[in-house]
Amino acid sequence: MKVLKFGGTSVGSADAFAQVARIVRRAWEQDPHIVVVTSAMAGVTDTLIRAAQQAAAGNEEPYRDARNELLVKHQLVAGQLIEDNIERAAISRLLDTKLREFERLCQSIYILGELTPRGLDVVSGLGEQMAAPLLAAVLRNHGVPAEAIDAREIIVTDDTFGAANPLFEETCQRVQARLSPLLEAGTVPVVTGFIAATPDGVTTTLGRGGSDYSAALIGACLNADEVQIWTDVNGILTADPRVVPNACTLPELSYIEAAELAYFGAKVLHPKSIRPAVERDIPIRVLNTFDPDGPNTRIVRQPRPTGLTVKAITAIRDLALVTVEGRGMMGVPGIAARTFSAVARTGVSVLMISQASSEQSICFVIPAADVHRVLTSLEEEMERELRRGFIDRIWSQDDIVIIAVVGAAMRGTPGIAARVFGALGEAGINVIAIAQGSSEANISLVVAVDRADEAVRRIHEAFQLERAAEVWEAERVAV
Ligand code: ASP
Ligand code: MG
Repeated sequence: MKVLKFGGTSVGSADAFAQVARIVRRAWEQDPHIVVVTSAMAGVTDTLIRAAQQAAAGNEEPYRDARNELLVKHQLVAGQLIEDNIERAAISRLLDTKLREFERLCQSIYILGELTPRGLDVVSGLGEQMAAPLLAAVLRNHGVPAEAIDAREIIVTDDTFGAANPLFEETCQRVQARLSPLLEAGTVPVVTGFIAATPDGVTTTLGRGGSDYSAALIGACLNADEVQIWTDVNGILTADPRVVPNACTLPELSYIEAAELAYFGAKVLHPKSIRPAVERDIPIRVLNTFDPDGPNTRIVRQPRPTGLTVKAITAIRDLALVTVEGRGMMGVPGIAARTFSAVARTGVSVLMISQASSEQSICFVIPAADVHRVLTSLEEEMERELRRGFIDRIWSQDDIVIIAVVGAAMRGTPGIAARVFGALGEAGINVIAIAQGSSEANISLVVAVDRADEAVRRIHEAFQLERAAEVWEAERVAV
């Protein structure tokens, strides 16, 4: 049994819907035990959220415009892909109902002048409620028996609106009770991603991009053989192909490596959202809807061994490096603790930390947008030390990039760091700071933004990652 999740761009247009229908049909013909999970059409969630926010700010136009725009967007798909008149009329009615609901909600938000997180979940989840019935109808039109399921019937969460936490036992009971009979009958459930409900039936959402989470939960509850994440790229690549033109798809990756990559900015999967599948050792495969037979990536606990130590390189931008420095810091306990509690009080998360062994400085990386708040908090915390000259300065450097070099086999393989720095040294690229995660699955380094792309290319080249797929295939056969 497999779960197939389609992201926003996979259902972004009539052509994309048709492509999804072909993929689902083929999967269903091979084995009818499949569950489909769908996101809203591309851009829809953003539009809904913006309209609601604008309504709260006293602006009625955006939601009126959004209503029409969304109607056209979905009707276009129905018009092109649903031949049956009765089916098409039913979808039209459904779209009309959902968009009326949207309009009424925005109207009350406008009148109240306030948008609560609870209200926002109701509005932002409407996109999936249109996409799932539409996709189910398109599938039926392609000869696949399908039934749309509103996830609020089956995914139960707490009431942390905007990022609700699933209640696993309760969810599994409902998932099994509702979906198993359909699967046994050969009917494909088409479940709304992203949305859920509290035990009392109040709508919640699992956070932006939450459809992956929905798919992983359903996969875990049904003990799926695989959870497939269908997106618009060929799985997970060794590097961003816009930076490294010969980057290639990694055939296999471990859960840990995938998590490191996500943490360091690869947008493909959020570790939290795949955790339900990871905990049950369910493989996750990332595939391209627009190149279904092209290369894809399988993420498993224990990838088959290959000689690849470094698997991927990623860069995170829009960051700043904050440095707290002073000779008086040497040997004074508690400075690091106070530095990071001052940061923690601002709610900003730290991406990387490094301390010089001379103890004369601590530096760490945060999002550039938060620099001002963090510096203010640090200056308050260290006021006395600054006055007495124990700390000379607290300052920040913009225009920096973290480059993360990821690969679980780096652990216990000596010389990886030397190769990374050798490659950068040859190119005359200055490394501003370094850190190695304790998992040893990554080395991260900070470089100036104007050298970042080149740094990624140099490291990619040094480890011959353009051959990753080849090496993997060759060694896999040898194993
Ligand atoms: N439609 C939701 C969003 O845009 C959920 C998802 O796409 O996974 O965040
Ligand atoms: Mg999305």
